[in-house]
Amino acid sequence: MTAVLEGTVALVTGASSGIGAATAEALAGQGAAVALAARRREQLDDLADRISQRGGTALVLQCDVTEQAQAEAAIERTVAELGRLDTLVNNAGVMLLGPIADAPLDEWQRMLDLNVRGLLYCAHAAIPHLLRAAAAAPRQVADIVNLSSVAGRFARKGNGVYAMTKFGVGAFSESLRQELADRYVRVSLLEPGATATELATHNRPEVLESIRSQFGQRMDASDVADAISYIVTRPRHVAINELLIRPTEQER
Ligand code: NDP
Repeated sequence: MTAVLEGTVALVTGASSGIGAATAEALAGQGAAVALAARRREQLDDLADRISQRGGTALVLQCDVTEQAQAEAAIERTVAELGRLDTLVNNAGVMLLGPIADAPLDEWQRMLDLNVRGLLYCAHAAIPHLLRAAAAAPRQVADIVNLSSVAGRFARKGNGVYAMTKFGVGAFSESLRQELADRYVRVSLLEPGATATELATHNRPEVLESIRSQFGQRMDASDVADAISYIVTRPRHVAINELLIRPTEQER
């Protein structure tokens, strides 16, 4: 039987670890050629090797998506080398927590740069190619999956600016969904709960210490990758607009 994404091309940002790496493997498993974008080359090379060893096709794109020119170049190289772009998974993100008062402003800047601007640069550069892919074989549908978070639905003490970026991703996704729906580019918002990845490790030691006690049950990156794979493998007439996925024991 032909894999559902055979003949299509997917670009995953933040593919060097966590949810992005697991998603690239999952989409390759569904038959997509995958472009792997992130800053750490070695991790991307290892992932590309794993995908190739299983018979898949992977293109390594070492880039910083907070730089508009690099985000655009990543999209353009994907199309130049893999021939098209059917799926964009806007996954790269950073979560720097802690109280708003006295927060280091550079942490807010990093979250706004990556979670908002990086995502916008990739979406903007990808849309013309996704529209072309949606108008052509093999599937006549294309996808953007934007990674939000439970924090994109509920703001809490200590996650104000992270939540702000993810609420923004939700608003942008809904607007874009309405704009592209009739041309069969589906825009999906994915809101994971706690997932065991490197995400929390980028916090200051004192913040990490204070949030460690809140760590309960966590999903694996592959659990979230499964959800992304589900979203982009629906038949053309079905769009998963929004998906909230938590570990079973997570209450909020
Ligand atoms: P990770 O920290 O494991 O992955 C983040 C990825 O983003 C890495 O591959 C990193 O690679 C990449 N990245 C960081 N900065 C840049 C940049 N400037 N340009 C390109 N890539 C960059 O975390 P997760 O896998 O957990 O996070 C993935 C997404 O899921 C994020 O958007 C996060 O907000 C969201 N999410 C995660 C949850 C969790 O509990 N883990 C819960 C809810 C949402 P590199 O450093 O090599 O550039």
